[in-house]
Amino acid sequence: MSTKNRVRCVAAASVLALAALVGGAGAASAAPVSAAHGSAGAAVGPRGSLPGKVPAAFTNTSEGGPHTVDVTIDDGPSPAWTPKVLAVLAQNHVKATFCMIGENAAKYPALVKEVAAAGHRLCDHSVDHDMTMDKKSVAYQEGEILGGQALVNKAAGGPKAMYYRAPGGAFTPASRQVAAEHGLRPLNWDIDPRDWSRPGTANIIAAVKEQVHNGPIVLFHDGGGDRSQTVAALQKLLPWFKQQGYGFSFPSQTAP
Ligand SMILES: [Zn+2]
Repeated sequence: MSTKNRVRCVAAASVLALAALVGGAGAASAAPVSAAHGSAGAAVGPRGSLPGKVPAAFTNTSEGGPHTVDVTIDDGPSPAWTPKVLAVLAQNHVKATFCMIGENAAKYPALVKEVAAAGHRLCDHSVDHDMTMDKKSVAYQEGEILGGQALVNKAAGGPKAMYYRAPGGAFTPASRQVAAEHGLRPLNWDIDPRDWSRPGTANIIAAVKEQVHNGPIVLFHDGGGDRSQTVAALQKLLPWFKQQGYGFSFPSQTAP
């Protein structure tokens, strides 16, 4: 990914963060999932979702319960950095969620299989990381989401993507609903050290420590360029989380 695209990524991410601050839970509950399906006459599940489907709201709880960290790793897989991130996670016995770009998954299917085989979860991060997709048609967004899902699942050869994270946070209510209807829980984040901008390992570490009370989901990157700072930060942060009494888990896929 070009530097220009990363700059756009931060702009989009900032907008999302602002929207989260302003909108709070309201933004997450805006999608009329049960109404849409109810009017269509389909059986609606206990939480307003179709049976076997997942909520369209952003997940904001961890399957591990309180005092848990859910590590998420975006923009890979990358032959240069994904193996290094996998090694640090393995050294610390931590399972994470990898949000993969469909085109990267198609290019490096062996890495996708390696990630899944190590017990990590897969997340669809769209076909090609278009961070302006929230400004485009629902049909286009659907193509990005379902195309990314197909590419990640095909590369994994068995394990399935369980979440959808919009590139740069470019979600819309419609895109969250499309994802949810296909079994992909919309995945936001709570802790963002902006590691993709390479602010320095010490700054990545400081930002995570500062934001650790925001919520369970922490955002890192193994794609999009040199991720040596991210790898170095993870080497320090994973033991630090444990020292602070945190466990590691995954974002809730089906819980509200
Ligand atoms: Zn991304």
